[in-house]
Amino acid sequence: MDFAGLETVVANSAYLAARGSIDSHLAFAMQDRRMRARLKLPPVSQCQPTEGEMDLTFESICCQQPVGKRLFQQHLRSTEQFKMAAGLWQVMEDYNSRLEEAEHIPLALTIVHQYYDPDSRDFCSFLSEDAIARVHEVARLGKADLFRESEQQLLSYLEAQAFEGYKTSQFFQRFLQFKGLEGQPVGDEWFADLRVLGKGGFGEVCACQMRATGKLYANKKLNKKRLKKRNGHEAVKIEKQILAKVHSRFIVTLAYAFQTKHELCLVMTLMNGGDLRYHIYNVNEKMPGFEEARACFYSAQILCGLQHLHQNRIIYRDLKPENVLLDDNGHVRISDLGLATVLKEGCSHTRGYAGTPGFMAPEMLKGECYDFCVDYFTLGVTLYEMVTAKGPFRSRGEKVEPQEVSRRTLNEPVDYPSVFSQDCKSLCEALMTKDPSERIGFKLGSCSEVKTHRFFQTLNWARLEAGLIEAPFTPDPKTVYAKDIADVGTFSSIKGVVITESDQQFYKEFASGKMAIPWQEEIIETGVFDELNVWGDGGLTPSDGED
Ligand code: ADP
Ligand code: MG
Ligand code: MG
Repeated sequence: MDFAGLETVVANSAYLAARGSIDSHLAFAMQDRRMRARLKLPPVSQCQPTEGEMDLTFESICCQQPVGKRLFQQHLRSTEQFKMAAGLWQVMEDYNSRLEEAEHIPLALTIVHQYYDPDSRDFCSFLSEDAIARVHEVARLGKADLFRESEQQLLSYLEAQAFEGYKTSQFFQRFLQFKGLEGQPVGDEWFADLRVLGKGGFGEVCACQMRATGKLYANKKLNKKRLKKRNGHEAVKIEKQILAKVHSRFIVTLAYAFQTKHELCLVMTLMNGGDLRYHIYNVNEKMPGFEEARACFYSAQILCGLQHLHQNRIIYRDLKPENVLLDDNGHVRISDLGLATVLKEGCSHTRGYAGTPGFMAPEMLKGECYDFCVDYFTLGVTLYEMVTAKGPFRSRGEKVEPQEVSRRTLNEPVDYPSVFSQDCKSLCEALMTKDPSERIGFKLGSCSEVKTHRFFQTLNWARLEAGLIEAPFTPDPKTVYAKDIADVGTFSSIKGVVITESDQQFYKEFASGKMAIPWQEEIIETGVFDELNVWGDGGLTPSDGED
């Protein structure tokens, strides 16, 4: 074995070892004790929120932020008046996270018996009579959205009755301590690199491990000099802002943003299963492409990701198999939001040439104004490629000028080989309609026009959106779905770039540290939250007060 081969073997084994232990929920065993000891709650006296710095709405601190929600629920359980509301909330969440529809029905009946029956001790009288009657009526069906209306009413009740009390409780003090810890600076000493996963335009992407918690992430590194030389500051700023703003299981999540001497770093969801391009062409080279059922599953998940982006006024612009990544379970997420753009409030369209030849929509090629419609064209191209293992306007490896690809995109009808079912072809046609005003897509705040297409007729969207549908293919946990280290390639050194004061300012703004929601999820799932959230006899422990 040559040196490069050996290097790959060594890198893979560290990476696979870490993945193996995480898969079996042993993240804590991989924690670095010294770094773990540095995660300490600051004393209460240092954690008072300054006016305007923190979002103190009920929605944010009791629903969206996982640590805030946990502590709010602890507060409810410790207050006689709210015990049954806390209980109902708990069982509803349990119900919503059940995998099998069959399990829903007995659980629904138990919940109804305990909380919806006026004769029960735990009857929740704050729910409206209508909502109670409706749940009674359909509980036997075990539908995924059975408790949606009740949940809304439960939350409104808690906001009106319990929120003020929470804010003066010791649980809220504890929340502020966690926010204090969250606000402490992050640097590369907190992360250990495991293996290079890929190469981006400005640097490598590495699998890495958060030392204190053991959680694995992907670290996208952007070389400062290369970034400046190629005028990348604005684009990176937008990429980070967009990643920080979106929260969807169908889009990679940003967990940390920090800087090192030479790089800016974006730490994101680790997607171990490789990208769709790799799976279309490289896994089974004799039979490239996917069966329709598999293409259907991926396009549905991508569609959910697109819908989330579009609801947040974000146009993605660079959808293609290469940018869709698989996780350990075979579920996919959209990644690489470097070409995405946000439609400003009050604007319904934008302009600008951005994307990949062979995927871009006709209206973009013509330099016209466009909106979210361009992403449905690229979805059509992506679905076509999943099924046929070739692009609709360009075959794999075909030597062809971008102008010719544009000409075909604008003028040529797409050819559908016989592997296409009627429904799949019809969806591809509807998505790749050349006139954007006739294309199906995002209308009135959702993609239901696409979701109700016959191609998806057997799909249960509620279960898909809750992450409850099993993937048609699960990546092998022992395989590294990335190129050999030597094939990833290296970067040339950059000369003649001077970093100025204003660049430093830009880096500082970029390096905002932990993203609240993912960081809170991380400390909960790795057990760090429970370890830190201990109470003395009378509530907060003596160390909470020390300076
Ligand atoms: P660029 O914007 O510079 O193209 P990307 O975000 O596409 O960079 O990342 C480059 C490569 O790194 C990808 O093609 C993929 O192989 C790998 N990669 C990126 N993000 C992740 C991730 N979250 N998990 C695993 N691999 C990733
Ligand atoms: Mg990329
Ligand atoms: Mg990019």
